[in-house]
Amino acid sequence: MGYKSIAIDGPSGAGKSTLAKLLAEKLGFLYMDTGAIYRTVGLYAFQRGVDPTDEQAVTALLKDIGIEICHGEDGLQRMLLNGTDVTEEIRQNEISRYASGVSAIPEVRAFLLDIQRKLAQEHHIIMDGRDIGTVVLPQADLKIFLTADCEARARRRYEELLQRGQTVEFETVRSEMLQRDEKDEKRAAAPLCKAEDAILADTTGNSLEESFERLLEIVREHLTV
Ligand code: C5P
Repeated sequence: MGYKSIAIDGPSGAGKSTLAKLLAEKLGFLYMDTGAIYRTVGLYAFQRGVDPTDEQAVTALLKDIGIEICHGEDGLQRMLLNGTDVTEEIRQNEISRYASGVSAIPEVRAFLLDIQRKLAQEHHIIMDGRDIGTVVLPQADLKIFLTADCEARARRRYEELLQRGQTVEFETVRSEMLQRDEKDEKRAAAPLCKAEDAILADTTGNSLEESFERLLEIVREHLTV
């Protein structure tokens, strides 16, 4: 029997990871946050003092990067970088910029493709990212493009960082997030865009519960599980 896959793509702060996690729990699927893998490569560039936009230098680092994705009993994803658990560290605001830089490099994307596809061959999976429906899992059983207006997204991202105890200004979070989204949309390698066959879900003004209900509705309509 083949495994089912759900691809959730969209810009930062649309609620992808929170909703995908809840949905995975509800359906008994594995949840995979692909942004965490780009963040792990970004963290390595940061640790080595490499400019994340320096294509040659970042590409040269790839041979030294060992990435493992573990799922604990709780179903939550943990990231290991050369054997060290970096799950918390990759959430630093500074690392968002590094992840965004390295993610535009085609060699980095190619390096990470197999890791992502392999998990989908072994589990029913919900994967969230920017290019899951278009590049990583173009044959996904269901594709959702999750978005919200930029104020709502910036507000969520800001609150997430505050909850993690990081000291940030709302305006800085907002402008950095918009810059990263624009880069994700405009880059040549696997840009952020809605797959033609993806269903659009806009969470602006919705509570988490309302957004989750909407996703469940989409799943019930489009997927037999
Ligand atoms: O989702 P998250 O904000 O953690 O992703 C960090 C960065 O990784 C994004 O800004 C994007 O540049 C990159 N990314 C990507 N493709 C994915 C997931 C994330 O390019 N599938």
